[in-house]
Amino acid sequence: MPKRAVVIGGSIGGLFTGLLLRRIGWEVSIHERAGQELGARGAGIVTHDELHEALTLATGRSEPIGVSVSGRIVLDRDGSVVCETPRPQVLASWDKIWRRLRACSDGIYHHGSTLTAVKLSTHGVVARFANGASLDADILVAADGIQSTVRRQLFPGIDPKYAGYVAWRGLVDEAELSQRTRDVLFDRFGFCLPPREQMLGYPVDGVDTEGKPARRYNYVWYRPADPQHQLPRLLKGSDGQQHVGAIPPDRLHPDVVAEMRLAAERLLAPAFAEVVLQTRKPLLQPIVDLEAPSMTTGRVALMGDAAFVARPHVGAGVTKAAGDASVLTELLSSQHDIDHALVAYNEQRHAYGSRIIRRARHLGAYMQSQLLSDEERQQAERHRSPRAVMTETATMQQMETW
Ligand SMILES: Cc1cc2nc3c(=O)[nH]c(=O)nc-3n(C[C@H](O)[C@H](O)[C@H](O)COP(=O)(O)OP(=O)(O)OC[C@H]3O[C@@H](n4cnc5c(N)ncnc54)[C@H](O)[C@@H]3O)c2cc1C
Repeated sequence: MPKRAVVIGGSIGGLFTGLLLRRIGWEVSIHERAGQELGARGAGIVTHDELHEALTLATGRSEPIGVSVSGRIVLDRDGSVVCETPRPQVLASWDKIWRRLRACSDGIYHHGSTLTAVKLSTHGVVARFANGASLDADILVAADGIQSTVRRQLFPGIDPKYAGYVAWRGLVDEAELSQRTRDVLFDRFGFCLPPREQMLGYPVDGVDTEGKPARRYNYVWYRPADPQHQLPRLLKGSDGQQHVGAIPPDRLHPDVVAEMRLAAERLLAPAFAEVVLQTRKPLLQPIVDLEAPSMTTGRVALMGDAAFVARPHVGAGVTKAAGDASVLTELLSSQHDIDHALVAYNEQRHAYGSRIIRRARHLGAYMQSQLLSDEERQQAERHRSPRAVMTETATMQQMETW
């Protein structure tokens, strides 16, 4: 009889896991809480070789995804070049990767299927859903993201910790930008570094209003915001509600958005300021750290953002989720005993996730509204240099040394 896995969460991590487990002969069902397709959402992601390899394996399709850039550049407030370096890289959009995975998952993907509880038994697990259904399985994979129901039940008290700064994010169609800005920004991974802040951006793939391939510009602008006053103010919605942890883009207060746009004109290189001003629907994301004490308990495996959320400076969130899925599948395929495979999975991937968290903390330390320790202060100084920011951000080189 085939072994059976229940995967909770139908975003990128859940899809990678479900598709890869199916390839090794497991019976799989993927359960996504959202009632509609997720594909219309999302912005840009940095890709690494491991992501492309996992995508080919999971989907059987090897054609490239994303937009290539040849190098990196740091721009000063007046638009002049502070420094630059050659560094080929492929940048992609979240929705294209998700859609490519989703296209292979018919028959195993269930929308509007919300896990409410998980019960561990000696040789398996029982998943209970909001519609009253329950499923028995050999393993349950928690790919249910940063607010994971599974993690909260099995590892209570492990929650995201605010890092002291926020990111404004946005996507703008290339056609909406001036030729000058396109010339400056679209061939490279760009940075601009106002004091204690960081703007970065890169082109990603997309489609125009007629469905033809078109490029878009994706940016992330990190700004300090203290947790006592500035963060609550940013999260006070246009509906008068005090949001906590996150705020939907359509609830952002117009005053907060207007102040952010004014700051862009004051602080950023003209090309970056134009991109911010042209963004119809900016997103605000408080930056957090999250680290689960273990990636397994009983026959449950946590993966992706359910287990670790690093600050985005390494650009590894989607690649790490793909890697978790690949390693879990390889171990379940090569080891006869599921429990042994899960022990090995925890050993390998917990160490890997911890390294990414450490590196991302160092890279982001100089933007924290309050620096916490002497070590953080020293790292902060190191990563303040434009060349260090340019060469160390969004790369997984030398990851093993962290
Ligand atoms: C719509 C969307 C857009 C995103 N866009 C970007 C982007 O542009 N750039 C970027 O770097 N990262 C983006 N991310 C985050 C990125 O996917 C993750 O950082 C990374 O890929 C790890 O993914 P994950 O699958 O572990 O978690 P997530 O992507 O967070 O997915 C978790 C999934 O679990 C589902 N879920 C939660 N609780 C339950 C439950 N109880 N029962 C069933 N399902 C549940 C959620 O609805 C969600 O779809 C996005 C995530 C989503 C969901």
